[in-house]
Amino acid sequence: MSRRILHIDMDAFFASVETALNPVLRGKPIIVGGNADDARSVVSSASYEARRYGVRSAMPIAQARRLCPEGIFIPCSHGIYGEVSRRIEAILETVTPFIQMASIDEANLDITGSIHLFKNEGALAVHVKKSIEEQEHITATVGIASNKMVAKIAANTCKPDGYLSIDTGMERAFLAPLSVEVLPGVGPNTRESLESRGIMTVRQVLETPEPLLAGLMGSHGARCLLDAAMGMGSDTIETRQMPKSISRETTFSKDEMDWAKFEPVLFRLAEQCAYALRSEGLETSRVTLKVRYSDFQTKTFATSLPEPTALDSTLLRALRELISKGRGRRARVRLIGVNLSVLSYNQHQMELFNREREEKWERTMRSVDAVRDKLGFGSVGLGSALGKNTKDNRSSRQKKNRDSSK
Ligand SMILES: [Mg+2]
Repeated sequence: MSRRILHIDMDAFFASVETALNPVLRGKPIIVGGNADDARSVVSSASYEARRYGVRSAMPIAQARRLCPEGIFIPCSHGIYGEVSRRIEAILETVTPFIQMASIDEANLDITGSIHLFKNEGALAVHVKKSIEEQEHITATVGIASNKMVAKIAANTCKPDGYLSIDTGMERAFLAPLSVEVLPGVGPNTRESLESRGIMTVRQVLETPEPLLAGLMGSHGARCLLDAAMGMGSDTIETRQMPKSISRETTFSKDEMDWAKFEPVLFRLAEQCAYALRSEGLETSRVTLKVRYSDFQTKTFATSLPEPTALDSTLLRALRELISKGRGRRARVRLIGVNLSVLSYNQHQMELFNREREEKWERTMRSVDAVRDKLGFGSVGLGSALGKNTKDNRSSRQKKNRDSSK
């Protein structure tokens, strides 16, 4: 039996939350983005009124100011958006336990077994949209289809405050007249090369011989594109509970006092935490260093980050500061650990990686993680964690922790 997947996407999420908090902003061009004084900041979210001026996500703030001088510019309040996201997740949980948050403001739900609780799937969609609007004062768009990809495309075609359901079996007919760029994997470059061959619509993709597509984008890319054009996609919902924190710690086989030895071990633990964080699609806003001394006294040193991150480089920088505090006490150390807390779902990618250097890091981390996924964490060590003393770590006990307690 075919499944029914509901894709929900909040409309102009950050801008809508700001408006819900401050209703006098309603109907105004709201532009939410990083730090207003920072020339490199980019737009994270723009209200539909601001979009009329041509303002878009990921556009530099300076450019948005030129396009929309009367716009109201608001810095990001990541903590608040994360809270609203969690409350929305709780609303979705009233419909089905099969929920996969795709980002801070998007989710996929398997509603196959829940439709009978409502009159039909349309009534279910209205219930979800209404509950969010009543409780959070923001609007959402819902698409329903037999798989995640088609449900998301359906939602994207009826934003904002929309609802569209594609009957099972009608996926191909629904996609055929749409522009090729609706398909996953078709970015500006692929679109351009397809359009240069006169392939503008999904229907035209299906009419193109596969070898010709393979010539443009490789045989794997062509196969994926054809599958997508036919409306084939995954209907698997990977449910998970957001952990409260992610931590790694190490107990030394004998108590140690030399902080020069601890540093590479701590960096390694931080990298392991960050890897776990990224594989769960999360970011952290708080880094804690834990030190247990030989007298079993435990001290923690914590710092809050200005914005959520999943980048090793940012976490190691924060940790370095904490280490300089931690080494203050002249005592032998039994155990050291790193803890990442105040977790949230991945926020807007461009906003997070708006600095060129971080973008480079993000690319590196993605390829490092891919290798680690295949060969295990130890297959790749980054420079910062490679100290000559890391072998001490091997003789010690290590503990992984994913704290899911509510
Ligand atoms: Mg959205």
